[in-house]
Amino acid sequence: LPYEYDALLPVLDEETLHFHHDKHYQTYVDKLNATLADYPQLQQMSLTELLTSEDNILASLPEEARKSIHNNGGGVYNHQLYFASMHKSNSVENHPHGEIAAKIAECFGFYDVFKTKLKEAALGQFGSGYAWLVYDNGSLEIVKTPNQNIPPIHCKKPLLLIDVWEHAYYLDYQNRRNAYIDSFFSVIHWNKVEERLQSYMEK
Ligand code: MN
Repeated sequence: LPYEYDALLPVLDEETLHFHHDKHYQTYVDKLNATLADYPQLQQMSLTELLTSEDNILASLPEEARKSIHNNGGGVYNHQLYFASMHKSNSVENHPHGEIAAKIAECFGFYDVFKTKLKEAALGQFGSGYAWLVYDNGSLEIVKTPNQNIPPIHCKKPLLLIDVWEHAYYLDYQNRRNAYIDSFFSVIHWNKVEERLQSYMEK
């Protein structure tokens, strides 16, 4: 984790982060590694390459290995982004600034419109998955993905995501996904989101 286990209190407590990071995320890492252990040639690829590869390296794998890379590789990818998208903010809702604030104004009109749309997507993701803010060809969009799927990142570049698997919030909020999402806005690491946006705009 890029912060202490108690850094996100009172939004997410230590127990939640221990389970989420050390158990759930670790399981995706371990299972992905176990799958890749049989395929030395895949170990040379980056995670992004593995998840977006269209060549026949992946097509030639057994179904089970392909599924494992999709599910566990997606789990690793999504969780790395998710944990890095939050930071200690003493539960004060800090608004975006810089280029990301300008883009939000341009694409949504107001911060509150963006917030409502991200929240709607997070609430509307039936079952497990994620709601995302992505950068696509100069514009911002809200998308959602089920399970451990990732967005089509060749065009929709990830800026921010909220994990709405129950394991992300159940210990703190039980079934109240709504309350978890509301609280999430006060731990968003906007400087990190800004950094991601700038890296996409440079290309
Ligand atoms: Mn998760």
